[in-house]
Amino acid sequence: MKALRFYGMGDIKLEDIPLPGHVPDGYVRLKVLAAGVCGSDIHNLKTGQWISKIPVTPGHEFCARITEIGPSVVGFSVGDRVVVDSRANCGACDYCFSGAGNLCRKMGFVGEACDGGFAEQSLQPIHRLLAVPDSVTDEIAALSEPLGVSLRVLTRLSASPDAPVLIAGGGPIGGLAAILLRELDRRPVYLIERNAARARLLEDVCGVIPVACDSDAIRAAMGGKEPLFCIEATGNARVMEQLIKSVGSGGRIALVGLTSGQMPLSTNEIVEREIELVGCSVFQDEQRKAIQLLERLSPALHQVIAGPVSLDQILEIYQESDRGANVKLKTIIRP
Ligand SMILES: [Zn+2]
Ligand SMILES: [Zn+2]
Repeated sequence: MKALRFYGMGDIKLEDIPLPGHVPDGYVRLKVLAAGVCGSDIHNLKTGQWISKIPVTPGHEFCARITEIGPSVVGFSVGDRVVVDSRANCGACDYCFSGAGNLCRKMGFVGEACDGGFAEQSLQPIHRLLAVPDSVTDEIAALSEPLGVSLRVLTRLSASPDAPVLIAGGGPIGGLAAILLRELDRRPVYLIERNAARARLLEDVCGVIPVACDSDAIRAAMGGKEPLFCIEATGNARVMEQLIKSVGSGGRIALVGLTSGQMPLSTNEIVEREIELVGCSVFQDEQRKAIQLLERLSPALHQVIAGPVSLDQILEIYQESDRGANVKLKTIIRP
């Protein structure tokens, strides 16, 4: 079968590899229907940072159909359509036991610690499968993973009802967070996004208000008020500096953007103005909640995805995503 294979930093190839062999106890064989490329896939290609299996098939955002079930599989049948929980956590540590699997002491991810979805087939354990309602397409179902991450950000941000939210970064996570905030409770959302075409797309799709990455411009756009709830989804030091300047005293910034180096922080300002910084990592039960929202969000989500394209084009999609040149939030691959 065709599969994308990662061999090490900068070394990735589309190959013909044998189909996965027999289906182990508690596992199913999946035919991949739709898969999304994530920023972390690009980061892995450049740094190999989170890869613990070589070679590995990347891809952790995918919708698939069960074509075979292994021994002792209950709750799933051949023909079921599912999405995969991207977390390959240990299931046995204190964090996993308390429901905080995203904070697992031995955290791993599908497509990094085990083979993922950029292939025609994948074997996955049933504890990682989530059923998908018939009412949503394969492409939209594949978005449940990044949508779960965006929902996690909103859980952590815990903004007061109706309070405006400032989002820095209109990529997949920031863009989906904007759609969630606008579609679910119509609150005002201000967006910092340097790709003007993408900012316009999100303005059209969900009515975000684009703003420049400058604390004076943000205050002016908000009628002289300061945002108390901000999302940092760029991982960019200059953007972070502007958010700290812009957020009102006592305000909160939810961080989800990953940075490749260290980030200098104006800690005195954080101390003196009691600014809260909260980290957001993957999700706990938010992917499950995201699946429940897919049908309602489908009209908006369809407008922000591109494709599907075949697996043969995946390396081009990687390059495009790396340049941040695409207008749409995500291109869907159909292996
Ligand atoms: Zn992802
Ligand atoms: Zn664990």
